[in-house]
Amino acid sequence: MEVTNKGLLIVFSGPSGTGKGTVLKAYFAKHPEARLSVSATTRQPRPGEQDGREYFFVSKEQFAQMKQENALLESAEYCGNCYGTPRAPIEKWLNEGCDVFLEIEVQGGAQVRRLEPDSVGVFILPPSVKELGERLRGRGTEAEAVVQKRLNAAKEEILQAKHYDYAVINDTIEEAAEEIATIISSEKHKISRN
Ligand code: 5GP
Repeated sequence: MEVTNKGLLIVFSGPSGTGKGTVLKAYFAKHPEARLSVSATTRQPRPGEQDGREYFFVSKEQFAQMKQENALLESAEYCGNCYGTPRAPIEKWLNEGCDVFLEIEVQGGAQVRRLEPDSVGVFILPPSVKELGERLRGRGTEAEAVVQKRLNAAKEEILQAKHYDYAVINDTIEEAAEEIATIISSEKHKISRN
């Protein structure tokens, strides 16, 4: 049995507005050793978002170049914008033994699961679609047409949950973060992974 010190790659997906980011923040507060991938996107920054922190905000041309140079582990188009995971930091962190979270949508999630069969898929769900609509509107950062577009995308995305290893319902942030910690701990103790 070969024991590896490589970190775990976690594909973390769920519809926009489910609170993925908030749950991860709660998880990282208790697990500062874990790493969160910073994606590249062609979307415009939302108020308060900083280049290099929430995302690398790039032009369509820059994004295309990153893809061409094979600098992205995966990429997808979502609601008219491109998103992708820079490859280099992921490999570095995994080799250093850090667990790495990719907060990505389902098309990208499927690409990573194919490329990295040892990755762990976690899908986060809202308590209900109604609640999701309320959360998206409550965020106040998107126009109603965009909220509708994201709600439709969410319904499609929820159908993909079956391709993930685990589902976590975001009823309360602390409980959801705790469940993620339990999942990761169990995965690390799996004999078959080694
Ligand atoms: P938002 O515009 O709300 O920040 O993100 C929209 C969706 O894109 C979310 O579901 C988010 O998880 C996903 N996303 C963010 N970064 C990436 C990425 O690098 N690749 C893929 N495939 N999806 C991403």
